[in-house]
Amino acid sequence: MSIDFGKLATAGVQGLQPYVPGKPVEELERELGISDIIKLASNENPLGPSPKVLAAIQRALPELTRYPDGNGFRLKQALARKHGVDPAQITLGNGSNDVLDIIGRAFADERAEVIFSEHAFAVYGIVTQAVGARAVEVKAVNYGHDLNAMAAVVTDATRLIFLANPNNPTGTWFSADELEAFLKAVPERVLVVLDEAYIEYATEEGFVDGMTYLPRFPNLIVSRTFSKAYGLAALRVGYAVSHPQVADVLNRVRQPFNVNSLGLVAAEAALEDEDYVREAASLNRRGMAQLEAGLKQLGLSWIPSLGNFLCVDMGCEAAPLFQALLRKGVIVRPVANYGLPRHLRVTIGTERENERFLKALADVLNEG
Ligand SMILES: *Cc1c(COP(=O)(O)O)cnc(C)c1O
Repeated sequence: MSIDFGKLATAGVQGLQPYVPGKPVEELERELGISDIIKLASNENPLGPSPKVLAAIQRALPELTRYPDGNGFRLKQALARKHGVDPAQITLGNGSNDVLDIIGRAFADERAEVIFSEHAFAVYGIVTQAVGARAVEVKAVNYGHDLNAMAAVVTDATRLIFLANPNNPTGTWFSADELEAFLKAVPERVLVVLDEAYIEYATEEGFVDGMTYLPRFPNLIVSRTFSKAYGLAALRVGYAVSHPQVADVLNRVRQPFNVNSLGLVAAEAALEDEDYVREAASLNRRGMAQLEAGLKQLGLSWIPSLGNFLCVDMGCEAAPLFQALLRKGVIVRPVANYGLPRHLRVTIGTERENERFLKALADVLNEG
């Protein structure tokens, strides 16, 4: 072969680093030949799927030979009712990552600048790089978004700004006042993508719901997902709510059948099962308290989080601890690729899983 096909990729793609997912349980089983592994690495819901969702999927199985509804009519109707918006404002995605990717392809090119925060969700950088746009990464304060600094770097070339509230992997958040001041400071021609993947866990009084700003700020796009509190990560369903003109653009870029039919019916059923989401948030609060108490006993500190995970400061290079935890059958997430080499991110699990993690961590720290 005389051609290096890698060199044929666009300049943006040549500089792309693939997203590193949490290590799958089966992979660790194969590598170590051990069983009884727990995975607290991808912020998945430890409750398992809602029985109502499973029943809806069962009912939809005989139709698998058909293409899904490419317009997602029923799910959009249900989402429009939930958020008090018009279905024409909604774009469905194969996970919210798909929506973020569609936004990047629709609004940014080689001449564009895209702003996001240091320690923010990796997909913002990947989307930016893939379309060949210039990434403008703004230094974090206390691990969280510095919204003033982010507004200050807007130029004529800025097309998109990605915000996550709460953010992953840090769990940090900003207030309604901070968001409002930011939206006022950003010119209307710059689209602001507010990623609210974890909002169902941020149950404290007054936590800002970005949807409420849509009528006043037509350049705002709010993204949500069924992967976290709704417990449907495997089915890949997410969505954006925006001005209808923005949604029209996104729906032109979107692949015709980007959300599969099981995902569509599962998401619709999940929206109706509000008790499940409440239980997920409640289990998360208890688990957060359990982990914080345990970490404190171990003399460790962490970044305060409103998500379903904690980013723990190991006080030293975290990679060897990650490996040592793997050998004990506990999968957490190293976050060195997020500029946090001393931290490990742990998803809040069931009481038993949290206990198991704390015990393994205590053992690993003792051995080290
Ligand atoms: C998990 C996560 C998502 C959700 O991704 P999906 O593609 O919907 O599974 C989006 N944004 C952030 C910040 C996340 O952590």
